[in-house]
Amino acid sequence: MFSRYFSTSRKMLTGSIIAGLLVALLCGALQFFTSYHQRQEKLDTLMLDLRVYMNNYFGELKKTIDTLQPLTLSHCRDVSSELTSRAAFSINVRAFLLVRDGIVFCSSATGEMNAPLTDLMPELDLEKNVDMALLPGTPMLPKKPAIVIWYRNPLVNNGGVFTSININLTPYLLYTSRQDDFAGIALVVGNNALSTGSDHLLKASELTEHPARTTKLDNIPLTINLYAESWKAESLLFALLFGMISGIAAGTLSYYILTVRLNPGREILTAIKRDQFYVVYQPVVDAKELKMRGVEVLMRWRHPSAGEIPPDAFINFAEAQKLIVPLTLHLFDLIIRDAAVLKTLLPPGAKLGINIAPGHLHAESFKDDMRKFAASLPPDHFQVVLEITERDMLNQREANKLFDWLHLEGFEVAIDDFGTGHSALIYLERFTMDYLKIDRGFVNAIGTETVTSPVLDAVLTLARRLNMSTVAEGVETPEQAAWLREHGVNFLQGYWISRPMPLAQFIKWQPDTPPAGE
Ligand code: C2E
Ligand code: CA
Ligand code: CA
Repeated sequence: MFSRYFSTSRKMLTGSIIAGLLVALLCGALQFFTSYHQRQEKLDTLMLDLRVYMNNYFGELKKTIDTLQPLTLSHCRDVSSELTSRAAFSINVRAFLLVRDGIVFCSSATGEMNAPLTDLMPELDLEKNVDMALLPGTPMLPKKPAIVIWYRNPLVNNGGVFTSININLTPYLLYTSRQDDFAGIALVVGNNALSTGSDHLLKASELTEHPARTTKLDNIPLTINLYAESWKAESLLFALLFGMISGIAAGTLSYYILTVRLNPGREILTAIKRDQFYVVYQPVVDAKELKMRGVEVLMRWRHPSAGEIPPDAFINFAEAQKLIVPLTLHLFDLIIRDAAVLKTLLPPGAKLGINIAPGHLHAESFKDDMRKFAASLPPDHFQVVLEITERDMLNQREANKLFDWLHLEGFEVAIDDFGTGHSALIYLERFTMDYLKIDRGFVNAIGTETVTSPVLDAVLTLARRLNMSTVAEGVETPEQAAWLREHGVNFLQGYWISRPMPLAQFIKWQPDTPPAGE
């Protein structure tokens, strides 16, 4: 159940960076596409508005012209006043001109005329039903560009109505100047164009800029171009910045959640605070009389949701989280809490076996911690034995220096789980230790595997030669106990004598009547 917690902080950091990058990418892209989309929509709306407005305008104009078409059959003097009033009431119309046989014979502005339309407006084609041109000006307003439109009257030979209208792009100019995204509009008729960018007529080819939108009006050969500012570096920068800020925020948040909120190490610290750890004591008896000579202190974790967590799991876990020191200090506190009662249960000089993890052994505070612990125990009663596995003593010189110091301070040292490491027997000679705890794997094999016994024999002989006392762990059967006693093992520990017990149970335990095997 703990494997999920073993992710190191580097994994959390990498995870957070990846989360941050993903969020940055997502938010940046989202911001980019949102503003891009908004801009496209704005352009579409403006283009549509323009189109609707222009179509309405030219539609109205066509209606007026349709009512004027019959006048092309009349004399100018009979219709000129009507023509004039029509022009006056039509928005932006400069003049209506009536044409018959290709001759302009009547104008709303100047009355009777007699000029061929082709001379007047060489741009227009009389043969077409509708034709249109952009002019730099008209005779009356030579400097103000105008649109001229020709509507043929099919009932009259080369006849129809011709009109010139003002084009005033100023409103658009004003409008677009207020909008960041718009650069302007242009009206294109044939080869000519009029744009908000210039106050005189242009050739259509002079409009070099590529329009963002373009549309043709209904029924008349007029094209509207809409120009937009190029995609702003600002918008891109904003998207980038927005992405970056979101990314940093998300990364930091995820790191915070992973390390602070979900920090697996917190569980251990919380468990210490909430008193979820407790200790159990397992008696160690001498092999000859089976009298209790000490106990091994083993830690337990009663987790509120996961239940009992085995020490093998949480000790390694605490080591991985660099929390073994606070955990061992807590173990010391728990022992000190029980010490007064323990004193009544154990004879003077009784061994108190405490497992020390390598993470603590090599910690800077180790010596200090040990001194403080010893000083907090009732004086001159317990003999503290530190149980250290052979895997933790790789540096011989350092280890011996530490053991010398421990001996000086009155502690004893036991090599734990002996036989599970890979070191040769001769290795034992290099260290100054007091006890050798034979791993329960060897004890288990007694009577089942013939090969183990000679090895065990050799270990016991060597231990005797080195003046080390031997403790057999995991003694579960009377047969094992008998074999071990026969072979001169000094102490026994295991279910055959007693399982590890909480203090309350230990108080009631009868030391001299070990169970006849379990
Ligand atoms: P260990 O130091 O070898 O502790 C002996 C283990 O053998 C204990 O397991 C004990 O309950 C078990 N045991 C005792 N008699 C018998 C038996 O007859 N048969 C069998 N099958 N098992 C027996 P536990 O308590 O689960 O502890 C496992 C390991 O966790 C310990 O191995 C020790 O390395 C570590 N540990 C436990 N408490 C602490 C602690 O407070 N600090 C540190 N650093 N490590 C601890
Ligand atoms: Ca041990
Ligand atoms: Ca052991």
